[in-house]
Amino acid sequence: MLARIVVDSAARPTNEQVDAFEEYLTYLWWNGQIHRDYVLSRFPVAAYVDVPRADSLKPRFFSAQARTGRHRVKDLFGSPPLWELLEPPTSRRARTWRSSSSLYLFTHALDVTSPVCAGDFDGVVPPYSLPIAENKRRDLQMWAESYRNHDRVWLSSGELELPAYRELADPASQLSTAGRSLCRSIEKATRKPTYYYLLRYYAHRQAEATRPCPGCGGRWHVTRPSPRAPSFAQFEFRCHRCRLVSHCGVSTEGERRAGIGNPRRRR
Ligand SMILES: [Zn+2]
Repeated sequence: MLARIVVDSAARPTNEQVDAFEEYLTYLWWNGQIHRDYVLSRFPVAAYVDVPRADSLKPRFFSAQARTGRHRVKDLFGSPPLWELLEPPTSRRARTWRSSSSLYLFTHALDVTSPVCAGDFDGVVPPYSLPIAENKRRDLQMWAESYRNHDRVWLSSGELELPAYRELADPASQLSTAGRSLCRSIEKATRKPTYYYLLRYYAHRQAEATRPCPGCGGRWHVTRPSPRAPSFAQFEFRCHRCRLVSHCGVSTEGERRAGIGNPRRRR
């Protein structure tokens, strides 16, 4: 949903004023109140931003940092930043994380929304609405950016294709370890089982559907995933113990790579 954040200014703003405005936007992004990319106008100072919900920019959702950023803009300009929606809000009330029995972390190269998804319905959960510390919300946004960067590198099939895929598909990679730690923080705060999505592309020619959970080595194939149910119910693999979900791979061409994302052999 498109919105505009603007500061009233009679004179052309200084670099310090514009920097403070952009810093304020960064704090809003870290908190999940706006999406990362925006279009900036320097005079008048304004930003065209995407917001997750019609009321996302209301002060009650502000982090301490966003409040500080807003004060700094107000001090430097002499008036506070104001915002307006540029699109009519939908009449449907957005569902919250409370109405879902589980959550999962999922994003991809083209995604710009929150990486926290509801298990019971197709919808994302804005970080600011989660009862987690504000530095964890920032970590979530940074993790999502890192994940998308890896996904882009993998999709572009260059020199780093395989290392990027390994980060996305191996539950013990640095990227997955950070993501799974965030899942644990969300689960602790919400008391909702929070799963981590593991990418799977390369597949075994045989027994792909019976591959063991890469975390515990146990059975994790879901007998009957529901194609018409919300996305979470469509995952063909789910391990409650390890809090992992995944799909069957689709490419058997590079079968050697199908071992990525399998349980590691004990030495
Ligand atoms: Zn497991």
